[in-house]
Amino acid sequence: MPRHIAEYVVVHELAHLKEPRHTPAFWRHLERAMPDYEQRKAGLARPAIEVEGV
Ligand SMILES: [Zn+2]
Repeated sequence: MPRHIAEYVVVHELAHLKEPRHTPAFWRHLERAMPDYEQRKAGLARPAIEVEGV
């Protein structure tokens, strides 16, 4: 996995420490921590599938 995408996964999981669910607040936390997260997320091999496998 490319490093910039692996970093996205890590920051995504860290954001879950603040907000366990994928609420609008969750995505705001994520954007604050990583403003280019959408670009990184698009690099995931299977973007329809969440990082946790849910
Ligand atoms: Zn998540």
